[in-house]
Amino acid sequence: MKAVVCQNAELDVVDLPEPTPARGQVRLRVARCGMCGSDLHARHGIDDWAELAEQAGYDRLGRSHERIVFGHEFSGEVAEYGPGTKGDVPTGAPVVALPLIRGEQGVDTVGLSAHAPGAYAEQVIVHEALMLPVPNALPADVAALTEPMAVAWHAVRRGEVGKRQVAIVIGCGPVGLGVILMLKAKGVRTVVAADFSPGRRALATACGADVVVDPAEESPYTARSAKGHLDDIPAALELAVAARERLARLPVGEWGVWRIAERLGAGPKGPVVFECVGVPGVIESIVTSASLFSRVVVVGVCVGPDTFRPAMAINKELDLRFVVGYTPLEFRDTLHMLAEGQVDPRPIITGEVGLGGVDAAFTALGDPERHAKILIDPVSEADSPAARS
Ligand SMILES: [Zn+2]
Repeated sequence: MKAVVCQNAELDVVDLPEPTPARGQVRLRVARCGMCGSDLHARHGIDDWAELAEQAGYDRLGRSHERIVFGHEFSGEVAEYGPGTKGDVPTGAPVVALPLIRGEQGVDTVGLSAHAPGAYAEQVIVHEALMLPVPNALPADVAALTEPMAVAWHAVRRGEVGKRQVAIVIGCGPVGLGVILMLKAKGVRTVVAADFSPGRRALATACGADVVVDPAEESPYTARSAKGHLDDIPAALELAVAARERLARLPVGEWGVWRIAERLGAGPKGPVVFECVGVPGVIESIVTSASLFSRVVVVGVCVGPDTFRPAMAINKELDLRFVVGYTPLEFRDTLHMLAEGQVDPRPIITGEVGLGGVDAAFTALGDPERHAKILIDPVSEADSPAARS
């Protein structure tokens, strides 16, 4: 089979032997595979990741000198079942799968390890227990977005955004756009999106963002200052003193009233800010500029060291949360949200390419004006990522 191999930061189309599914595994014919920002990073920086993972006790990620086949965002059809499988889904049926397989040495990450080649290829091996049939004749290109959209869904769930809360999305690459789509699917009324690139801002609008700003011209944190947001320290001090003064006027039970009000959820509310950039300095800029009591959900992956001033976050009593991946249930729910039309991620897909065009597509993805998500169609001859009509 044909596959794109990355070794020492070089991408080459090569012929590999057709993979054989081991115990509990299934071989898929790849229909579409998305190119992820983490693939772009991994091409040059997979050693940093592998070292980081090793410090967390996981030593199975790929190294730059190894032959790695990327691709963890894919859809396909069942081609062959390995031994010890149930075989519930008929051969030829469309499926998606979480990009994890269990081998003899443990669990491997499909598309980021030499032990588990990914779907930049005509065929890929998946784990039967993590494979799901694609319902409602969902097209293969949309189905391939189940994985990145599950990342967004997990981030939104971890953000615990209320429908009336303001959500602010910093960075409108594929991750930020996915978060915008999922926030709107969840019914969040006000989604503010910010990106320096006009092309990305247009995509944010297409994904349903209510307010889209160029951060060079306007602060996303004050673009739609919802009632009850406190923008600075004087406002918070004023609120505390004024609330106490008002209650002190009550004839009796003033502290009891305060306690009940607190139990009913009274008090200042902040927006939920999603960091979807992942470069040094972004967390510091959010901590400095966000309203008091904001919840910050860090989705963007910054692999190197970064700094921010904790005292600024302390003064504002910010919540800082970090998120990664999704649960199998979130993956399943995302697939069904796509298949039932609750969320339509097609604006994110900006191009398609064959295996021979992967190198050109990596270059094209470096320009935010032109592309967000490029899909690989392994049978396509396209060697440059022509924009989809
Ligand atoms: Zn990804």
